[in-house]
Amino acid sequence: MRKQFICGNWKMFKDLVETAELINGLKTEVSSLNPKVTVAVCPPFTSLAIAANLLKDSTIRIGAQNMSPHDEGACTGEISWRMLKSVGCEYVILGHSERRQFFGETNELINEKAKKALANGLKPIVCVGETLDQREKGVTTQIITTQIKGVLDGIGSSDLGNVTIAYEPVWAIGTGKNATPLQAQEVHQGIRKLIGQLYNWSVAESIVIQYGGSVKPENAKDLLAQDDIDGALVGGACLKPDSFLAIISAAKS
Ligand code: PEP
Repeated sequence: MRKQFICGNWKMFKDLVETAELINGLKTEVSSLNPKVTVAVCPPFTSLAIAANLLKDSTIRIGAQNMSPHDEGACTGEISWRMLKSVGCEYVILGHSERRQFFGETNELINEKAKKALANGLKPIVCVGETLDQREKGVTTQIITTQIKGVLDGIGSSDLGNVTIAYEPVWAIGTGKNATPLQAQEVHQGIRKLIGQLYNWSVAESIVIQYGGSVKPENAKDLLAQDDIDGALVGGACLKPDSFLAIISAAKS
């Protein structure tokens, strides 16, 4: 059975003092909650080291929100896989819709980053999702198919066990308007079927597919109860210990 994976994307929130407050608020509680659920936090780059230090003896894992496709070099403002590993990252979110929308990231670039992460022992959480306009035009399946094929291009089945897919409908991110459990389940099932066609059924059955988009304590249980929803990528609701902990405890174990 797939293990549920709840991951908090802090986006561009929390300075060092606030980071320590949030991590301390989570770490004593998280071990007593749902031990069968994998929990990770993805603070901004500047908070990774302090978060990793505070979480040394905790089961909570650490991830970053982005990564350069290059090893090193004249890339002002970028962060490499080696830097992320040196501060204790296990995961890296790639292709978040905010990166696609506001920073021009393409499926090709996200694929390059995913391959670089996998080759160097980081586990990518690759994000896909349609806009409201695309959903209303009835092209959700085509968009998700193109994104999945693009971001996974050239990644072999042996590496896929280290990849998490996050389905994040763009219209649901930060808007307070989540996909209904059935809308999300339909897309998740489609993604799993596509992975089965691109790889094989055993890979498809084991890949973890998170839902993201306005997940809150009030809607988490119904979303996470769906057969093909294996966890959540949580934005706004991960910024307070109580709401993130409530989502973790809503995960099926
Ligand atoms: C996200 O940033 O990945 C996200 C899903 O945000 P929110 O939960 O705030 O919609």
